[in-house]
Amino acid sequence: MKIQCSCGVKHEFELTPELATHPVKFVCPACGLDASDFVDQLVRRELGQAAAPSTGGHSASMHGQHVGTLDLNSAPIEELRQLPGVNEATAKKIVENRPYARADELVTKKVLSKAAYDSIKEHVAVTKPAGK
Ligand SMILES: [Zn+2]
Repeated sequence: MKIQCSCGVKHEFELTPELATHPVKFVCPACGLDASDFVDQLVRRELGQAAAPSTGGHSASMHGQHVGTLDLNSAPIEELRQLPGVNEATAKKIVENRPYARADELVTKKVLSKAAYDSIKEHVAVTKPAGK
């Protein structure tokens, strides 16, 4: 891999998989310009990796494995079953008692105990109005 510094000096790199596992540091020996960010991005692109996101913070709530917030009126049984403490029978009960106007109707309709509801309430919501 070859790069050209803004001072015009060309530099050659050997692309190794190890480069991808560490942030690449590079300072142009000719002009002293710190081109680490640029070289790092280039290396990652060459190796077919996206640059590591620079902003930390939010975890991967959009990614497949994680159970996000399920809509009580539309989530399929298979998804409801993924909720902590919800088995197939409970999931069916949730579906049978639709529609819900509010998530806590799981308790008032006696679908779940208060304790069971408390453990899943962060994962369920009523995002669409009940009925049509
Ligand atoms: Zn330079």
